[in-house]
Amino acid sequence: MTTHAAPLDSVLDAIGETPLVSVHAAPDEVPVYAKLESFNPGASIKDRIGKYMLERMLERGDVSPGGTVIEPTAGNTGIGIAVAAGQLELNAVFVVPERFSVEKQQLMRALGAEVVNTPSEDGMGRAIDRAHELAEELDDAVVPQQFSNPLNAEAHYETTGPEIYDALDDEVGAIVAGCGTAGTLMGMARYGRELHPDTYVVAVEPQGSLYRTLKGKPAEEGEYKTEGIGTHDTSTNELFDPELVDDVVAVPDRDTHAEMQRLAAEEGHLVASSAAANSLVARDVAEGIQSGEIDAPYNSVVTVFADSSERYLSKGVYGSFEEWEG
Ligand code: PMP
Repeated sequence: MTTHAAPLDSVLDAIGETPLVSVHAAPDEVPVYAKLESFNPGASIKDRIGKYMLERMLERGDVSPGGTVIEPTAGNTGIGIAVAAGQLELNAVFVVPERFSVEKQQLMRALGAEVVNTPSEDGMGRAIDRAHELAEELDDAVVPQQFSNPLNAEAHYETTGPEIYDALDDEVGAIVAGCGTAGTLMGMARYGRELHPDTYVVAVEPQGSLYRTLKGKPAEEGEYKTEGIGTHDTSTNELFDPELVDDVVAVPDRDTHAEMQRLAAEEGHLVASSAAANSLVARDVAEGIQSGEIDAPYNSVVTVFADSSERYLSKGVYGSFEEWEG
C-alpha cells in the first residue's frame, strides 16, 4: 500500500521538499534535474526565504510577534514574506513601484499585507529608501533586505541544497541557477562545494545583465524581458561571491521565450522565464560534461524552476515573442 504524507499543521510546514524532476531534453548520459519551486504554498522559491528569514529574525529578537516586516519588493519575495508573516504574527508592509505586476500586489494584500506604492519613475532605489523611512517611523519594525541579508543565501544552504543532494545521494556534478539576489545560487553552491570542492557552478542571467562583469567578462548592457534574474547595478548584489562561481552565462530573451514554450508543450512544465533560462544553460552544461569540455565530479546537473508561468499570463508569455511584455 502507498503511504501518504501525514497532515501538516500550517502552510509553513508545506514550504520546501519540492519535487526534483528530470528535464528530458538533456542528454541521457548527463541528466538535468530541476527543483519545481511553484509547489510551495506561495507558488515560488521565495517562500523558503520568507519563512527562514522571519523565523531567524524572531529568534534573534530583531523583531517580535506583533511587530512589522517592511520589504521593498515587487515580486515573489513579497508573497513569500507575506505567507510567513501572516503565520508568525507579524505585520507585513511592501513598498512597490507602481508599474509592477498587479497580480502580485493583489496576492500580497490577500495574504494580509499592506502595499505602499512609490512612483514608477523613481525606481527601486526610492522604494528601498521609503522602506527604511517607514521602519524608522514604526516601533518594532525591521527591513529584511534580501539583497544584502546573509539569511537569504543561508535559507538555500539549509534547505534547497540538502534536499537536492539527499535526493541524488550526494552525486551532483554541476549546479546552475539564475541570479536575482544570487541567494539561491550562493546557498546551493556553498553546500555543494563543501561536499565536492570541484562542483561546477554556473550563474545564469538574461543577456543585457551585468553579473558577467563580476567574473571579468565584458559588459553588454541592455534591457531584457526575463523576470526575476539579472542586474543593472552590481553594487546592489552583495551576496554574489565570484569565488563560488565557475562561469556566468547570459541567455538572450528570444531563446528563453522559445524554451519557456517548449517546456510547457513538450514536458508539461508551466514555468516562467527564469526557469526557461536555467533549463537552457543546464542543458548546455550537461552537454559540456558529456563531451569532456567541462570537468565535474559527477554526470548530473541540477537547477531550479523558481515559479510558475501562471503568474505572468497577462504579460503574454505564451504569445509570440513580440507579444511578450516581460
Ligand atoms: N526566478 C524568479 C522568478 C525570481 O523571482 C527570483 C528572485 N528574484 C529568482 C529567479 C532569483 O533568485 P535569487 O534572488 O535567489 O537569485
